[in-house]
Amino acid sequence: MTDSRYVIPPPPQPTIAVAGTDKVFPVRRIWCVGRNYIEHIREMGQDERLPPFYFAKPADAIVPDGGTVPYPSLTKDMHHEVELVVALKSGGRNIPVAKANDHIYGYAVGIDLTRRDLQIASRDLKRPWEVGKAFDHSAPCGPLAEASKIGHPAKGKITLKCNGQIRQDGDLNQLIWNVPEIISNLSEMCQLEPGDIIMTGTPAGVAATVPGDKLECEVEGVGKLTVTIGQPLK
Ligand code: MN
Repeated sequence: MTDSRYVIPPPPQPTIAVAGTDKVFPVRRIWCVGRNYIEHIREMGQDERLPPFYFAKPADAIVPDGGTVPYPSLTKDMHHEVELVVALKSGGRNIPVAKANDHIYGYAVGIDLTRRDLQIASRDLKRPWEVGKAFDHSAPCGPLAEASKIGHPAKGKITLKCNGQIRQDGDLNQLIWNVPEIISNLSEMCQLEPGDIIMTGTPAGVAATVPGDKLECEVEGVGKLTVTIGQPLK
């Protein structure tokens, strides 16, 4: 039903498929955790003793499993970052770590695509990261596995292959801040709501990806995601 008060059509609701069903999960916000695996912090040359921090992507940056990501504008160095994605069915403020899992609808595997050259330039100029992180099609995400079916994975391989070759190979047990700690910490910064998803950080092995690449990601016990990098939009 359309509300006639809208002066333009309301934007479509971004969604993620729910694995094994014809249902979809509506996405409200996409939160991302920076620097949450030691080996990735080391490869980026950052201080591994600092606490993690957060940035965001627009909800309509989601690309579904099997989708194509047009190579983005302005960059010469787009990187893949495979990540465990957590989807919230309820929210709140100041959520205790011990209660955090109660808010989780499910889990998926996603990619935090990054215009690395622009991110690093922003970082060095102490400017915001949106140009490097929050661009169109920057958040491919596979189908959600329901926590009621798979539980709450604390370990399991997290991998990304590019054209059949392993690039990223980590384990969820290497997360510096685990999922309940991230939810609790984020909920101190802002009120979390149903529909919020969190990309929880990437293991080592981030690298450039170019048009024609096929990226195949998997989190053991959670699911898979395959996307292709396409030509730039005209
Ligand atoms: Mn990331």
